[in-house]
Amino acid sequence: MVDECCGLFTPEQREEEFLFRLAVNNINEDATILSRTKLVPQVKSIDYYDSFHANKRVCDLLEKGVVALFGPLSYSPSSAHTQSICDALEIPHIETRWDYKLHRDDLSLNLYPQPSVLSSAYVDLVKSWGWERFAIVYENNEGIIRLQNFFKDAQNFNWKIQLYQFEPGKPYRDTFWEVNKAKVTNVILDVKRDNLLLVLRHAQQVGMMTDSHSYLITSLDLHTMDLEDFKFGRTKITSLRIVDESSPEMMNIMGNWTKLTKRLNMPDVKKPNGILTESALIYDGIRLLSTALQDLDQSQSVDGIQPISCHSGSPWLYGSSLMNYMRPIAFRGITGLVDFDQLGFRTSFSLDVMTITIDGFIKIAEWKQTTNRNETNLTPMDNWNRHYSQVSMQNISLVVTTIISEPYTMLKESAIERSGNEQFEGFAVDLIEELSKLMRFKYRFKLVSDGAYGIKDDKGEWNGMIGELIRNESDIAIVDLTITSKREEAVDFTQPFMNTGISILFKKPTTKVTTLFSFLSPFQNIVWIYVLAAYISVSTILFVIGRLTPYEWDDPHPCRQEDNVLENNFSLINSFSFTIGTMMQQGSAVAPKAMSTRTIAAIWYFFTLIMISSYTANLAAFLTVEKVVYPIENAEGLAQQNQIEYGCLRSGSTKAFFSESNIPVYKRMWKFMQSRPRVFTASNREGIARVRKSNGNYAYLMESASIEYTIERDCNLTQIGGLLDNKGYGIATRKDSPYRNPLSHAILKLHENGVLLQLKERWWKQKKGGGQCTEETKKSSSVNNLSIDHVGGVFVVLLGGLSFSFLVAIFEFIWKARHDSNESVFEDMMKDLKFAFACQSKTKNVVKKQDMAYQGSEYDSPPNYGPDFASVY
Ligand code: ASP
Repeated sequence: MVDECCGLFTPEQREEEFLFRLAVNNINEDATILSRTKLVPQVKSIDYYDSFHANKRVCDLLEKGVVALFGPLSYSPSSAHTQSICDALEIPHIETRWDYKLHRDDLSLNLYPQPSVLSSAYVDLVKSWGWERFAIVYENNEGIIRLQNFFKDAQNFNWKIQLYQFEPGKPYRDTFWEVNKAKVTNVILDVKRDNLLLVLRHAQQVGMMTDSHSYLITSLDLHTMDLEDFKFGRTKITSLRIVDESSPEMMNIMGNWTKLTKRLNMPDVKKPNGILTESALIYDGIRLLSTALQDLDQSQSVDGIQPISCHSGSPWLYGSSLMNYMRPIAFRGITGLVDFDQLGFRTSFSLDVMTITIDGFIKIAEWKQTTNRNETNLTPMDNWNRHYSQVSMQNISLVVTTIISEPYTMLKESAIERSGNEQFEGFAVDLIEELSKLMRFKYRFKLVSDGAYGIKDDKGEWNGMIGELIRNESDIAIVDLTITSKREEAVDFTQPFMNTGISILFKKPTTKVTTLFSFLSPFQNIVWIYVLAAYISVSTILFVIGRLTPYEWDDPHPCRQEDNVLENNFSLINSFSFTIGTMMQQGSAVAPKAMSTRTIAAIWYFFTLIMISSYTANLAAFLTVEKVVYPIENAEGLAQQNQIEYGCLRSGSTKAFFSESNIPVYKRMWKFMQSRPRVFTASNREGIARVRKSNGNYAYLMESASIEYTIERDCNLTQIGGLLDNKGYGIATRKDSPYRNPLSHAILKLHENGVLLQLKERWWKQKKGGGQCTEETKKSSSVNNLSIDHVGGVFVVLLGGLSFSFLVAIFEFIWKARHDSNESVFEDMMKDLKFAFACQSKTKNVVKKQDMAYQGSEYDSPPNYGPDFASVY
């Protein structure tokens, strides 16, 4: 049986025609497929823009009888015509061209990937490179459809996209001039394969092919071109490729090209650099058709091909069935996996991400179509990072702009005159040296000409290091350069290498704070109140217990026994004078004799011992250490007063912070500074010197990392309050510079292996007199007055001792009463207590067992205690 399949090509499409014939030939030679049938290729050349002519050619072909139609290969009036004829007569139409239509006709199948899928592959690439600003340069309006996803995602990713269209009849270089003037270095280029080489050459002519330029080319045919001229420029030129050059079939075709062309009588078709995407798709299309034909043949008896007339309008009987057999087929061809979804679009295919390097056109990643859009489809290979980061900086010479700022960049102190990089030292100098070792680039330091960090003036112009980067006067800027959102609009920053925030530098007050009552400072007020309470209660208890215990009552005149009078030394006044005397370490004329009173005395001695020693020790510390009182404690304090002036650097981020802040306190501070321009300084060094010379009437707003460095060396200066904001220092590069990512990568590495920490330790703590003021700080922070938490234990012991002495006194009383009294102990005690609290006398009569009658009459009349006693003083 013979089946004819037909291809429509223009006379120039020799390679496509060759692949078409070759595919048919290979199928016919393959015994495993379509063994009963022979395919015959029918090739007709048509004029794409003459639809009448195309119509006639197609109808001629159909009258001979065909099973499927391939082509035309590009979108044209004749392609639409062919499509509608095939649809009407139910002839399968296999297409291999880019087609923007969202629906496939029933009788057509396209092996070219769907435009929206390709578009998302381009988006994934741009995302992975972190482009923020780029140009889309295109030839015709199809390009915009091809790149539709960029416009959908532009807002989400904050992309700034500039569109440029080549003007017909004008050289491409004119458009590239515009792109270059706009300082855009990342370009997405959408042009036909035939014009691509010329377009790239024109870009080269206007200086758009340097190492800082990157191109993403939407054509899938870049691999077929001779890119020798672009290999050495270090421009990143990337594109996608669907043709699988590593497939065995492909290798066979490329390896035996000349032999095969001769065999097919097409010796004029020269071997290309790579096979065109459309040719490869046609090759896979023939394979798809033959597999479907075999399946159809096996399931129903197809009576060969049937001539079909365009005029009769009666369709081919098996057209729809053949189409239905084609859709579920999946196989691995020379364009990867050929598989279709329900709607007839290519699915599950993968694309090679290709780039131009010195070693040629190489694969650096693979992009796979997945159903989940959230999943990343891009799988970079080992050489991806090398290509996009380190390799690009190797042996490159960078101009590094910097400013003299301690300890980041300083001029070396030396007797001999130094020049070049040799004249500098500091943290930033060491950091760039570490980076250059890691990434193998060369650099040359250049001091910024206007001595400024970078601030935008009223005209929107940047000065300082930021300005130099914008004007291409230097490649990177390194010093204590703060990353701010405003600066990010003009330049790019790497990851921060140090974190910081604004704080206040101030002079420590030198005058000692003396007060009239500084002798009270060793104890907190509450402790003094406790001591007073302890004194009063211990004295009172001593008096009561002294009265209660019988052993404190003595005969004042032992020779006059008949007086029967007993005397007690612990009157109220004596008790108070005993406790104060002992407390002041002076002793007392009265001495306790009873066990109970001696217990009280002992515990009081212990209490005074501890309290006095604590007081003495702390007083000594208080008198030797200066207590510094600052007139301001934080930014709020500074803002609320007008006596102390304050300022900051004239052209730096600190000034920008205050001028842009919406916080009322900082706004007020900005107004103050603006009203007195003299408060601004040209450098941090000038600001520090001003604080040093001031008598506490100038505060300097500076970043904490620099304050830390200063107060480590000048002990008369200090930081007041915490940080007003949080930010970091980064290396600045030009906008969209290719150096930003590799430098960021290297900074992260230095963070991880501790190099940055070591550098900070070296320049902050060790070199140039670091570590001078640490002792000082320790001393001043250790003096505090004692609180009740420190001495509370002594009061507890005192309380315990007093309770114990009470018990002893009761024991003494009972002991004595059992010998001398006939009354109950309780009554005796009540009487004695009453007597004690009456505080009337220090003497009483002797009470003996035999005097009970007398004693009874005396105690029976309680108010008469006094008169019944022998003498009152
Ligand atoms: N580091 C700051 C800057 O980059 C200087 C400052 O304003 O304190 O501008």
